[in-house]
Amino acid sequence: MLVNATAMLQAAVKGHYGIAAFNTNDLEWTRSILLAAEELQSPVIIQCTRGAANWQQGFKVVKDVVEDLVDYMKITVPVAMHLDHGTYEDCFEAIDAGFTSIMYDGSHEPTFEINMERTAEIVKLCHSKGISVEAEVGGIGGVEDGVASNGELADPQECKAIADLGVDFLACGIGNIHGLYPADWAGLSMDRLAEIKALTGDLPLVLHGGTGIPTAMVQEAITNGVAKINVNTDLQVVMARATREFIESGKDLEGKNYDPRKLLKPGFDAIVKRAKELIVDFGSDGKGWA
Ligand SMILES: [Zn+2]
Repeated sequence: MLVNATAMLQAAVKGHYGIAAFNTNDLEWTRSILLAAEELQSPVIIQCTRGAANWQQGFKVVKDVVEDLVDYMKITVPVAMHLDHGTYEDCFEAIDAGFTSIMYDGSHEPTFEINMERTAEIVKLCHSKGISVEAEVGGIGGVEDGVASNGELADPQECKAIADLGVDFLACGIGNIHGLYPADWAGLSMDRLAEIKALTGDLPLVLHGGTGIPTAMVQEAITNGVAKINVNTDLQVVMARATREFIESGKDLEGKNYDPRKLLKPGFDAIVKRAKELIVDFGSDGKGWA
């Protein structure tokens, strides 16, 4: 059974650990994430952007695959099915598809007031259905699904205003960037994180762009209130690297290794291994129903 992400993230805030939110791209990707989470007895959030949902033929297919795999694999840890960076319209579609958690990203709306209004509307609808809601204040740097925004430090007062709408967790820019970080990246602003935390209390905060931030820096952010860490690029990179190694070594030409179950296995094994490393880094191993 899928759950919403509220209880697991509130427990993470209290316990000072973080929960990984891994983006999925297909059935095998989801299976790899679930294998890692179950083996380490960690709660997990599986999330999906509009782009990845289009690739998988729609939000409902994604949610059905996650739900059916949780059932078939006899997964015992809490699993939430989360919409990543939903537009206003995406939210309604994902809600209809049965997602248990929604991110409405109003940071691209023309004004902060529109972000506020729409966040309030989505919170009301989602809470009537037991669905958790993530909102966003300020843009996250980099490019995601073709939408670019300048990296910025979220305004703490705007964070408080959005938090007061009753959102369950909040994404706020603290210098983080989607995708791979440039060599001259300034790092996360722990000062801004502390200012936001001071105004938002126990509200779980979300760190987007979790690929390539030094482990100690992520752990410091977790200590300071981050409870959900979004990881997408990292797993894509290890999957691509393992597949490249398999092919460059010529192993794809041996026997029946053209079979996708053999050809793609090293890549998916690499996802399981890396997801487990991140779960341990974030400290959610053994916290299944904490
Ligand atoms: Zn993001």
